[in-house]
Amino acid sequence: MSILVVGSVALDSVETPFGSADRVIGGSAVFFAAAASLLGPVRLVGVVGDDYPFEKLDFLTARGADLSGVEHAEGESFFWAARYSDDLSSRDTLETRFGVFGDFRPRVPDAFRDSRYVFLGNIDPVLQLEVLDQMREPAAVICDTMNYWIEGSREALVELLKRVDILMVNDAEARQLAGDHNLVRAARWIQERGPRLVVVKKGEHGAILFGPDWMFFVPGFPLEVIFDPTGAGDAFAGGFVGYIASVDSQDPEDLRRAMVYGSVMGSFAVESFSVDRFHSLHQKEIQSRIMGFKEMTAFEHGLVESDG
Ligand code: AMP
Repeated sequence: MSILVVGSVALDSVETPFGSADRVIGGSAVFFAAAASLLGPVRLVGVVGDDYPFEKLDFLTARGADLSGVEHAEGESFFWAARYSDDLSSRDTLETRFGVFGDFRPRVPDAFRDSRYVFLGNIDPVLQLEVLDQMREPAAVICDTMNYWIEGSREALVELLKRVDILMVNDAEARQLAGDHNLVRAARWIQERGPRLVVVKKGEHGAILFGPDWMFFVPGFPLEVIFDPTGAGDAFAGGFVGYIASVDSQDPEDLRRAMVYGSVMGSFAVESFSVDRFHSLHQKEIQSRIMGFKEMTAFEHGLVESDG
């Protein structure tokens, strides 16, 4: 089933303790599409400037992604630079230049308006609402956001939540949005404002899915080497949405599997700079990590029955 993603198409400069990458392709929509296109057809809406090496996105087209919704504008592409701490647990943003992304008004091509699954990457909630106004009748709207919009555009964001089925945020964002340090209560606060489901990402510690009256937790896949954490959250979203779109179901059992696909795709994103790891990724490698999760997390209960 078709997936629409709207978000940043960026050039990133990233420094980690293991090296640096200069002006490599990135952005929320690109990381999302790199993961989701392994599971189903993706349609991308975004904007690039005339400095963008567009041919570097050919690997997405080769996997059936439709990039005809990416506008080519005159000027500089969105540019983001960041440096990670030695243990990769935090990062400083060194520079953000919005360039053509600053004037971005997403226009969903007619041929994309029937997309069944819509992922709203982290952009101004006013623009996210405009995207929804252009869609016919999606089966699910999945939405990301960040501290900047939670602080500066709270009203529009709360309005948007009414039209979102699944909100996907990290733990700090969930706490900030709800004004509650407790994640379970924060998720309930969000659910009372619209989204049926809330996915709270906790970086290498995994993610929690809050359903109407149930929860599901998936760990991060344990890796020996984490190279560059950039884009892990968007790759997680790509795996999650890619899976529910591939089975066209939001049954609890499928949502649980989607969480595992999300965590698996996030784990591949961090193994190299940019979307490099996705270029050569084979279904066998994806399946092997899915099975790895099953092995690592399944257990037979051995409840002790004792009266004394
Ligand atoms: P993440 O590591 O999941 O936070 O995603 C990092 C990606 O988000 C990078 O590829 C950046 O280009 C992109 N990015 C950083 N800041 C913004 C922003 N303000 N709006 C949209 N995309 C951004």
